[in-house]
Amino acid sequence: MQDNIAVLREWIAGSDNIVFFGGAGVSTESGIPDFRSTDGLYRQEYKYPPETILSHTFFEQNPEEFFRFYRAKLIPDKSVQPNAAHRRLAELEREGKLRAVITQNIDGLHSDAGSKNVIELHGSVRRSHCMKCGKSYGLEFITSADGVPRCSCGGIVKPDVVLYEEPLNESDINAAINAISDADVLIIGGTSLAVQPAAGLIRFFNGRRLAVINKSPPSADDEADIVINGSIGETLGSITVNS
Ligand code: NAD
Repeated sequence: MQDNIAVLREWIAGSDNIVFFGGAGVSTESGIPDFRSTDGLYRQEYKYPPETILSHTFFEQNPEEFFRFYRAKLIPDKSVQPNAAHRRLAELEREGKLRAVITQNIDGLHSDAGSKNVIELHGSVRRSHCMKCGKSYGLEFITSADGVPRCSCGGIVKPDVVLYEEPLNESDINAAINAISDADVLIIGGTSLAVQPAAGLIRFFNGRRLAVINKSPPSADDEADIVINGSIGETLGSITVNS
């Protein structure tokens, strides 16, 4: 693994066109559970499976139950902070090396860490809108409301997160495809690559430097040039290119 970290360090040192593609595993070191790890949300017991609760159909039919789960499990606690992975990626962007962070996460931690070009494929808990009049709302409105949050016009205020059965935003898909297909280094980390169509976007990578950093092997292992089985925070945090 040390050798692979050394190879990744060289790639990072020699590139000004790195793209990072990540998922829930990037935020576990900030204390937010992912879906598929042993202590992830999919291993916990609920009345309905998380895929069901987080589907568009369920949202329409059981908004009370949706918002109960959403507030309890998807909105990060106020004390949650970016970790070493978020911070290192933001530094790499400031150093002119990293062009884009493409994330499946909805927690907003990449932006908190200072990353500017963040493509949030599944939206963000920080933004919401009224389904009737379109008025925008922030996170506070959802957290402070009781039950189903309602706009002054009476419409339901829906979080701007992509639920199962809903399409991704087309401009986000295009931005992600452009960044990935132009990149010369692609780092994939903290994702099981199980959620489509987001995971399929990595197929647009044309380069020969694909690194995977993940605790459990994701499906991209076959295509990866290097695989680092370990913590993304520790790995990225340990890679400095000026020393
Ligand atoms: P996932 O739960 O399917 O997979 C997470 C992967 O990250 C696993 O393979 C796990 O082994 C790995 N991992 C966990 N902690 C790690 C660490 N510290 N270092 C390296 N690897 C680590 O998550 P996914 O692939 O992102 O897909 C599930 C969906 O989860 C996404 O659509 C996303 O929207 C949603 N989600 C987001 C958040 C968040 O915003 N933080 C949290 C939970 C789920």
